[in-house]
Amino acid sequence: MAPHSTSDPTLDPHSAIPSYGFQPSATQKITPRNPALLHRSLAHEPDTVTHAGGISLTLSSGRTVIDACGGAAVACIGHGNDEVLDAAVEQMRHVSYVHTGAYTTSSAEDLAAIILDGNPYGLEKAFFVGSGSEAMDATMKLARQFFYERGNLERKNFVARKQSYHGTTIGAMSLSSNLPRKVPYEPLLSKNVSHVSPAYAYQYQLPEESEEQYVMRLAGELDDEFQRLGPETVIAFVAEPIVGATSGCVPAPAGYFRSVREICDRYGILLILDEVMCGIGRSGSYFAFEQEDVVPDIMTIGKGLGGGYAPIAGVLVSEKVVRGLRDGTGIFNHGQTYQAHPLSCASALAVQKIIKRDDLVERCKRMGHFLERQLRAALAGRKYVGDIRGRGLFWGIEFVRNGESKASFEPWVEFGYRVQRKAFELGVAIYPGAATVDGVRGDHVLLAPPYTVAEAELRVIVRVVAEAYGFAEGDVE
Ligand code: PLP
Repeated sequence: MAPHSTSDPTLDPHSAIPSYGFQPSATQKITPRNPALLHRSLAHEPDTVTHAGGISLTLSSGRTVIDACGGAAVACIGHGNDEVLDAAVEQMRHVSYVHTGAYTTSSAEDLAAIILDGNPYGLEKAFFVGSGSEAMDATMKLARQFFYERGNLERKNFVARKQSYHGTTIGAMSLSSNLPRKVPYEPLLSKNVSHVSPAYAYQYQLPEESEEQYVMRLAGELDDEFQRLGPETVIAFVAEPIVGATSGCVPAPAGYFRSVREICDRYGILLILDEVMCGIGRSGSYFAFEQEDVVPDIMTIGKGLGGGYAPIAGVLVSEKVVRGLRDGTGIFNHGQTYQAHPLSCASALAVQKIIKRDDLVERCKRMGHFLERQLRAALAGRKYVGDIRGRGLFWGIEFVRNGESKASFEPWVEFGYRVQRKAFELGVAIYPGAATVDGVRGDHVLLAPPYTVAEAELRVIVRVVAEAYGFAEGDVE
């Protein structure tokens, strides 16, 4: 069992640098040419997608693959939706750009309203930017400014969790604990962020511990960390309600977020929830926090907001934090050229209208139950399948070398990537990952099909994933 320390271990940078967790897909080849575009890997040329429609991607080779992960849980209503395209074109015809310091658009106003109007959680305002990383950086600044406005200058620390991913910009990466992605940049990152243990029962709940005891232990660790820093110096605790990219759809144990909320409230520390990946219906409720019986002070949304039709993410702000600004300077001291961009807002508005009109969150929940049953029937009990977990249409399968000890695979095995590559070869795109925390390497694949997915499509996806798993199992025997 891994130790539960309060800061990231320093990795040997040389062991972290070679792949950054990047693996080419099955059809990606060593490139014979030198494209002008800087791809993630200089050595491999990604597949060119020539058409994307519904749940399918067509590659320049003519091959069609089922997009069972929507990129990384982005394409929530599928690709090529005509209503969204029409709304985008219409917006561009009328207003393609305005500077938000001086102007607004009905698309931006209506988007904020469709997300927030009538919400019973006290979320009052929305702020739109281009990506989840930017949303997290804006959130860090907003949270600091909330205290700054009251002259509370000593609050300067954030506490986040190991095994988390909050983005790639300097602020968001400081919060993250995705070590392969952050190690080279460590000297540039904020020293005012520390990390506590993830709420990750499969790997870290002790055999003799009940779920309640595990939650109490994690809550105790968080309290200890606040004490170590001095609670009066802490701005916020930051967490993903369901950990996505770093460990493969890990929901917290029951009661965890209630305990976290209580501890934050005890010291006047803000609770920030990052729902960039799990929000906007993906987990089977519009906000993932609704299943945790807590409400955040600030939260972020992203992938399901625009569904991939345009770059957009958002920060949702509670009445309490808005009041803090209103009672102070009345200004959020943060602005970007492309914030609340009309094209992005109009596209996202069309996506949100479809989600609400077609009751897609409820559908996501229902289809999620179907997917769970299919996955368990096809994979539970298989030799290297350690855990199958998730909510809504957001499912992770964790692979371990030893089911009994939960020992992870040696890094070179890259079991999750093997499954992903084979599945892609067989016509289904899924999202691989491998978290490394305290030496535990959580090989996983992630499934996040659109909320519009049909049962027949889910059957095909699960059959192919099981087949790909079978190949990978055979490979490592
Ligand atoms: N937060 C979470 C939970 C994410 O999963 C991601 C991206 O995967 C981000 C933030 C960063 O979003 P983006 O890649 O849009 O910058």
